[in-house]
Amino acid sequence: MDEEPTPPVTMTTPVQFLPGVGTFRAKKFSRLGLRTAQDVLFFFPRDYERPAPPKSVDQLRDGEQASLIGVVTEVDLMSRSPGKSVFGAVVQNQTGAVRILFFNQPYRADQIKVDERVVISGTPKLSGLRMEFVHPQVTVLEADDDFPEPKILAIYALTEGVKQHDLRHLAGNVLEALGDQLHEVMPEQLRADSADALRAAGIQIEGPLDEIQTAVRQLHQPDNEESLQAARIRLVFQELLVMQLALAMRRRKLTSDLQSPPLSPTAVIDARILNRFPFELTNDQRQAIREVSQDMACQFPMNRMLQGDVGSGKTVVAVYAMMLAVANGHQAVMMAPTEVLARQHFETLGKILKDSRVRIGLLCGSISRAERAATIAATAAGEIDLLVGTQALLYGDIQFKKLGLCVIDEQHKFGVGQRVTLRSGGVDPHYLVMSATPIPRSMAMTLFGDVELSTLREKPPGRATVNTYLAHDGWKERWWSFVRDRLKEGRQAFVVAPRVVPVTKTELSDSEEEEGEDISSVQTVFEQLKTGVLSDFRIGLLHGRMTAEEKLATMQAFASGAIDVLVSTTVIEVGIDVPNATVMTILGAERFGLAQLHQLRGRISRGSHVGYVCVFSDGDSPPSENERLSLFEKTNDGFELAEADFEMRGPGDLLGRKQSGMAPLRIADPRRDIEILRVARQIAQAMIEVDPELEDAELQDLKTQVMRRYGKRLDLGDVA
Ligand code: ADP
Ligand code: MG
Repeated sequence: MDEEPTPPVTMTTPVQFLPGVGTFRAKKFSRLGLRTAQDVLFFFPRDYERPAPPKSVDQLRDGEQASLIGVVTEVDLMSRSPGKSVFGAVVQNQTGAVRILFFNQPYRADQIKVDERVVISGTPKLSGLRMEFVHPQVTVLEADDDFPEPKILAIYALTEGVKQHDLRHLAGNVLEALGDQLHEVMPEQLRADSADALRAAGIQIEGPLDEIQTAVRQLHQPDNEESLQAARIRLVFQELLVMQLALAMRRRKLTSDLQSPPLSPTAVIDARILNRFPFELTNDQRQAIREVSQDMACQFPMNRMLQGDVGSGKTVVAVYAMMLAVANGHQAVMMAPTEVLARQHFETLGKILKDSRVRIGLLCGSISRAERAATIAATAAGEIDLLVGTQALLYGDIQFKKLGLCVIDEQHKFGVGQRVTLRSGGVDPHYLVMSATPIPRSMAMTLFGDVELSTLREKPPGRATVNTYLAHDGWKERWWSFVRDRLKEGRQAFVVAPRVVPVTKTELSDSEEEEGEDISSVQTVFEQLKTGVLSDFRIGLLHGRMTAEEKLATMQAFASGAIDVLVSTTVIEVGIDVPNATVMTILGAERFGLAQLHQLRGRISRGSHVGYVCVFSDGDSPPSENERLSLFEKTNDGFELAEADFEMRGPGDLLGRKQSGMAPLRIADPRRDIEILRVARQIAQAMIEVDPELEDAELQDLKTQVMRRYGKRLDLGDVA
């Protein structure tokens, strides 16, 4: 039979025309995003199988990871009932025999057959007289596979109908056809310099970075651990470099056509401002103020994030920056996410600036129309120096006479795409963004490449500690009696629950539905406490479905002590300062994120009294069995918790990538690759400094990559 001559494989050859694929299988591969030969080359393994050096049967120990090579001598597939099966096999070699077992994986019978040579790897258990591996990794050896030289095998992400073996084969074929044609985008010098910088940062790597051909090949089919490592570093570095180049270009683009007023501190101004604070600044506050002052003295806008745990004293730094603007004849604006917080800032500023000439204005939902109009007019006329308000109001078209600084408080959602644009008279204000959700450095560098970071780690002295307890079954009674005692002493208490109203079963999605479970709601809890254990105290209710006025009235009643207990959803999360509140009960705690829990806890560390938090969960398992909650109990350091949250859940929950506008990473993991990230950032910044638009002829391919990945996302359009 005549076969049509196969056209040569190129990077753009569709997967279906690759050797041994065809339409049927191409469809399956396409579910993994594999459409062309090139896609296959860049479909990087998600992990590797590293068979431990094979052992003999008598060396196996119960509970110790091991691998073994042998021949399958018996197989047995037992179907007990539909959907329930046990597949067992005996694997034998000169040193003895072991049993392997798979539950509900009947397809193992197709994979593991009598007389086949296999490597099994897993953790054996002694069962009777024989070692038994339950669900081990099994690699069927091909006739010409030589052992005992254990190969590192790629593990790819799979989809239904595609097996590890299929992908290894496919990748192998494409590598053979195209591996040498991969196009290098990093010139030799850059590879050498980058490797030097990586070494200087303590990363183990020999010689220059791998060429792309070597790197891609070694990633799919590593010769050994070292070559795999070198390949990974090269590709991780490239991915991060491309990202950091994009961020550096964006920063330049943003700042080169922006003009800000240089607002410099003088010794007199500095002394005058510091005199206004009734306490000594912490070292971290001083350092942050230095950083802010340096930025503000420049002609291009500051873009700085000030992060610090709740109570670390961020306001002081903001006030300093605002007064610096005012002292230089400019206006400053401070935005808060909620009305309550805006008012609180307004009052704080009023106290600090009492008897000074600084004029302060407030804009928020609950002030009268006339007052609002007057404030807006005064702002435009330059008769107000400091304007405080809620974001909602300030995003409108407020005109400033001479705006020099914009402070944004409690901003958790600040991504590269989200710079607010407040302008006045053709100049751009400096920006200071404050966040109490500490962002791990690695994430900050990835997501906010164009934002500088100042950090307050140290807390002001005299802060009371907070004790955190994870409730056990049967604690409720004791806990409430403890709460009652604190209330009788004159303290106040928070009770936090995840929902506003109770849910009925039908409202729950299937995944959420659990036997007999009720999600705590503030409404239910409020009723229960009011008629139950706390009936002799004054209880208030606060949640997001109330109007701004209702919320404000309730908060004020709590702040003034007219209410003893505030039952609330997480609307209290942000910035509230009620030093007399020292007890907090968190219900349904498993529904909150670590960062959120920590924010909540921050509410009761405002004063000088010791605070107490008790955490209850809704489900059947006690809070202590929840990894997040256990960590919450163990540490009071917001940064440590943020790092852990990031480790456990990835950046997605804390700050979504979508929201930040960054492309997903294919191979780099900022958590693991933080050091490489640092070096990539440093090199990218240096490159953009000498060659702002990457015009060097040698760098054109790299630039094309930057633009392809980030051009649209970061609006680098006219850089190209
Ligand atoms: P946050 O960082 O949560 O916004 P704040 O700025 O509200 O914290 O500060 C919390 C409290 O600590 C405030 O009552 C503030 O007056 C006080 N504070 C700030 N800095 C210091 C300091 N250096 N020494 C003593 N108290 C301070
Ligand atoms: Mg604050």
